[in-house]
Amino acid sequence: MTLEEKDLNYIWHPCSQMKDYEELPPIIVKKGQGIYLYDKNGKEYIDIVSSWWCNLLGHCNPTINKAIKEQLDCLEHVIFANFSHEPAIQLCEQLSENVPKGLTKFNFSDNGSSAIECSLKMAFQYQYQVGKREKKRFMCLTEGYHGETIGALSVGAMDLYAKLYQPMLMDTIQIEAPDCYRCPYGKTRECCDTECFRKAEKAFEQYAQECCAIIVEPLLQGSAGMRIYPAMYLKKLRKLCDEYDVLLIVDEIATGFGRTGKMFACDHAEITPDIMCVSKGLTGGYLPMAITITTEEIYRAFYADYKEGKAFMHSHTYSGNPLGCRAGLAVQKILREENIIEKANQRAVYLTKRLKEALLEYPYVGEIRHIGLIHAIELVKDKKTKEGFDSEERVGYQIYKEALKNGLLLRPLGNVLYFNPPLIIEEEQIEEAIKRCVTSIHGYMDGR
Ligand SMILES: *Cc1c(COP(=O)(O)O)cnc(C)c1O
Repeated sequence: MTLEEKDLNYIWHPCSQMKDYEELPPIIVKKGQGIYLYDKNGKEYIDIVSSWWCNLLGHCNPTINKAIKEQLDCLEHVIFANFSHEPAIQLCEQLSENVPKGLTKFNFSDNGSSAIECSLKMAFQYQYQVGKREKKRFMCLTEGYHGETIGALSVGAMDLYAKLYQPMLMDTIQIEAPDCYRCPYGKTRECCDTECFRKAEKAFEQYAQECCAIIVEPLLQGSAGMRIYPAMYLKKLRKLCDEYDVLLIVDEIATGFGRTGKMFACDHAEITPDIMCVSKGLTGGYLPMAITITTEEIYRAFYADYKEGKAFMHSHTYSGNPLGCRAGLAVQKILREENIIEKANQRAVYLTKRLKEALLEYPYVGEIRHIGLIHAIELVKDKKTKEGFDSEERVGYQIYKEALKNGLLLRPLGNVLYFNPPLIIEEEQIEEAIKRCVTSIHGYMDGR
């Protein structure tokens, strides 16, 4: 049996129709270096999606590798209830300097979805313990994505992931999300006055008194196709939450650690959420770790004599894993000492310019939108009407297959192709990635 055959003999891959693998077998990756992956035959792929958005500073980054190796010979893991260790303490100390002002307490878990579950329970229990027991429901945005466990799916709104499971999910209030490419108010990004925020105001008027929190992906609805919305929306939402006593949970899992050009997407709007979830880039994409970060005020509502029963009885076995914390510390050090975000912002300007030169005039490119180094290319059947391709044709997926042949890992979101590269990508590498991307688009579109 080949390795690929053995793989398919045993493994049920994530988010995959396994039958597709008959035609496109799994790629056995042997090595990673910087933005590159190498398969077992030595073929090179540019990892332009940062291996599901988590690889922040390149594969096999020497500083992170070294930190983990050192930690490995010291302590691999320890129970985190009543026990602690320096890497966790130092990581929180570091992060507290970078997170939005007012966020001071760090609750560890081991993946993004778990951090979301933690935030929902925390918000619910907070309201309960401050005596607002009628506040039981959650608000969220349409097209939102917060992970795939049951609570996270409930506050998500993408049919692709959630529809089938509806009978298992919480009944949430969905607010129509901003849609800047197909703005229902006929505005463009340049002349927008966040008219769509009226939908949020209406929902708050009607439902806020029964809601403990609203959860949003700040500025970037990633899984929905890298939909980017204005900072003003988030700023207004912060105010609205304060007026109605609804907690603001911000899911920075995809946007955190420089992805949007600032340390956190919240920083664009200069707001502090009540609860913030981070994961993906936290360990540079090395180890599964997540943190739900909150304010002194929320923390205080759980702080009491044991017999009052106010403790937050929430735990994950691998909470605060030392290897993850050491990786996280190395990431913070690199971000700080090597001015990574500033440099990435310069490269982002270059990427925008070159990508637009290469593709904006192409008849099937509806929009090229971007924030930080994240750049999305929305493919449409008709540029004028913005009508999309039939999902059955799987245009994005066909181009993805083409791109693999050309040495580019361009896994799409429906018919949206995107770049979300490690922040360390260089200009020549951007050039090469664009070249491979354009070749792949032509490779499929011109022959269909
Ligand atoms: C990836 C992601 C999650 C879920 O994280 P997992 O580690 O995959 O469970 C949640 N929210 C956002 C915005 C994400 O991008």
